[in-house]
Amino acid sequence: MITTKDLTKVYRSRGREVTALAGVDLHVREGEVYGVVGTSGAGKSTLIRCVNMLERPSSGSVTVDGLELTALAGREHRAGRDLRAARRRIGMVFQHFNLLSSRTVQENVELPLEIIGLDRTQRRRKAAELLDLVGLADKARSYPGQLSGGQKQRVGIARALAGDPKVLLSDEATSALDPETTRSVLGLLRDLNRQLGLTVLLITHEMDVIKTVCDSAALMRGGKVVEAGELTDLLARP
Ligand code: ADP
Ligand code: ADP
Repeated sequence: MITTKDLTKVYRSRGREVTALAGVDLHVREGEVYGVVGTSGAGKSTLIRCVNMLERPSSGSVTVDGLELTALAGREHRAGRDLRAARRRIGMVFQHFNLLSSRTVQENVELPLEIIGLDRTQRRRKAAELLDLVGLADKARSYPGQLSGGQKQRVGIARALAGDPKVLLSDEATSALDPETTRSVLGLLRDLNRQLGLTVLLITHEMDVIKTVCDSAALMRGGKVVEAGELTDLLARP
């Protein structure tokens, strides 16, 4: 479902070069929860941002659901449009939720639906469905500031699912949450994975997150994958 081949990213800032990704090969199968773990600076954020094409890789390829995104990322108008369409098939969840504080929960979830071009009635219906799915039907009219961290992340997840993505990317989605809330949000991701057949790629610095929810995992260090495989195999290794 997600494949990266020899993915490389070199940042150039103030005359200095930083190699954030040094040839990453990742293979995430359809319907699995795949975790990438590593300490700060390992390249996890860069990897997930390249999969989403929020960041343009220096070289290598990214393929999601059979579409090579790196090939779509040309500068021509048409390629850009195809890339935007492809990116709608990818949902993204963030560590700090990235909700609009001046909009209600429902409006936050409706935002991507507005961009897709659904009318008001369709948006309402879809947002209600999504909030129900994440267990927040009764918070539709609340503002993000009135919610707990875990509830905010559920809104973030509902919003990420608005475009019916096949793939959900999670960037440290539980890092700002306490252990109990973390378990509950990870449980939700697992439920969505099972119910919707959603493929989940998550990054985390916590091995516990990997053990709780992942089918497979990769360990990153210095911009490289140093170990990868099914969790049961990984944990059995010395
Ligand atoms: P992680 O998510 O594992 O903490 P990152 O992908 O954020 O790792 O960072 C990998 C390396 O790339 C680090 O050395 C970081 O400082 C560097 N880096 C990340 N983003 C940028 C950027 N926009 N410009 C320059 N260097 C960056
Ligand atoms: P986190 O590790 O919580 O994801 P960071 O503080 O590493 O966040 O990075 C926040 C933002 O700053 C990201 O967009 C990242 O790409 C960018 N960034 C990280 N390291 C650098 C760096 N050395 N120079 C410039 N930008 C960076």
